[in-house]
Amino acid sequence: LEDQLRQAQKMEAVGQMAGGIAHDFNNLLQVIGGYAELSLMGVDETNPCWTALNEIQDASTRGKSLVSQLLAFSRRQVIHPVDLNLNVVIERLLQMIRGLIGEHISLDFIAGHNLGTIHADHGLIEQVLMNLCVNARDAMPDGGKIIVETENVLIDGDYANTHAWASPGRYVLLSVTDNGSGMDSRTVEHIFEPFFTTKEVGKGTGLGLSTVFGIVKQHEGHVTVYSELEKGTVFKIYLPIVGRKATEISREVPGPVFGGT
Ligand code: ADP
Repeated sequence: LEDQLRQAQKMEAVGQMAGGIAHDFNNLLQVIGGYAELSLMGVDETNPCWTALNEIQDASTRGKSLVSQLLAFSRRQVIHPVDLNLNVVIERLLQMIRGLIGEHISLDFIAGHNLGTIHADHGLIEQVLMNLCVNARDAMPDGGKIIVETENVLIDGDYANTHAWASPGRYVLLSVTDNGSGMDSRTVEHIFEPFFTTKEVGKGTGLGLSTVFGIVKQHEGHVTVYSELEKGTVFKIYLPIVGRKATEISREVPGPVFGGT
């Protein structure tokens, strides 16, 4: 619990700082990208400046996407929850995710039946899914497979008694599985910390998973990770179902797919 509190305070401080910087920086990138676009109107492909201007435009677009991650991170206090069917949210996002991960990686979606309704912020839930898929992509530079799966699971009293985060009831379980590089246990210990990254400078902010963690906590959910080097990683996210009741006895709470924490 102390760990979680420390984590929350750290995120709070980092969030405020990041928000301030990100906002100003976004404006600057807007100007840079805007002028590059304007200049491109005046030149054609034969002009030596054409490539350079395109590079500037690309870089400012990439910069803006990093900044929007920072902004999302710092804005995590404000959520606008609505009733959502996670299957519908994911269906609508699949094409965009396929674009993000590229053709060398396959993406399967296994939609759970009678999933139930969650009360959640649409944009933030999309962000969780995208962050997890982008990380999975980065863990599979030579290609691989991502499986996104939803399930309606019951957490019973026994389980809730032994797991501090859980209260009994029905949850939507979202899992994102990849068969990429995996992580060793020392890495896994740190992945939810702000700014922890193993990626090259400019490739990662280290904010993806702390954002995921923050969003899931705000939705009174829970996130777990199972990972094994050279085999792959599974992220599991539990989100409480609206009007859920723990009336049935069930052994549905899924265990680890393979090893890990
Ligand atoms: P970033 O992606 O910017 O590095 P994240 O917070 O999203 O920041 O991730 C932190 C670190 O967790 C990554 O740098 C990587 O080492 C590890 N990681 C996250 N997802 C995966 C995954 N699916 N497979 C292997 N490693 C992962």
